[in-house]
Amino acid sequence: MTQIHQLFQLQKLDTEIDEKKKRLGQVLQAQKEPPSLLAARKRAETAAAELQKWQTKHQDLTLEVGSVTTKTKNSENRLYSGKVTNPKELADLQQEIESLERRKAVLEDEVLEALVMVEDAETEKTAADSELETAVAHWETQSAHLKEEQNELALSLHKLMQTRKNKAAGIDAALLHEYDQLRQQRHGLAVAKLRVNMCMGCQTTVSANKVKEVDEGRKVYCGGCGRLLAAP
Ligand SMILES: [Zn+2]
Repeated sequence: MTQIHQLFQLQKLDTEIDEKKKRLGQVLQAQKEPPSLLAARKRAETAAAELQKWQTKHQDLTLEVGSVTTKTKNSENRLYSGKVTNPKELADLQQEIESLERRKAVLEDEVLEALVMVEDAETEKTAADSELETAVAHWETQSAHLKEEQNELALSLHKLMQTRKNKAAGIDAALLHEYDQLRQQRHGLAVAKLRVNMCMGCQTTVSANKVKEVDEGRKVYCGGCGRLLAAP
């Protein structure tokens, strides 16, 4: 096997490695949670917070109703105890009781409003949790496939790189250096295949003389793209 032919084998390996690395990058990128899942998570979090808020509000209001009821009862007990005889004080007590009852009525309306909000929040939370559950299940299936592909790619790349190392060891160091530089300058392709008389790197037609030299295993550069030419 000529050095050029060996270089061409190396090129094929490098091209495959490049493609697999690119795909691995895409697979890793695709394993980030998709916007739909993030949105479902956000919705569920908001729904939970909203329910918590209205439950607390409902509890606070209920406690306040209890406290106003106790106060009213105490004032009533005092009013009807017979111990208070001062007309001014009796009138004040009566006024206080009326005021407390008005306050209680307002609070009871607020308790009912809060209860409606709690029920709405519960409905929204159930819907949001269900949506999130579906999104998570869908995502887990999808990411399991991606994880599998990731493992396959990693394994395959490991083998390819080992093979590449062994192949490169058999190639002249100066030629290998030139190859590496050409690859950097020519979008990863240093050695182009010749199809009849056409360079597959740039689609330029190559002279019959050069084709002959390529066939003989000599080092020939494409006049169009500057890549090394290899016989198919
Ligand atoms: Zn070319």
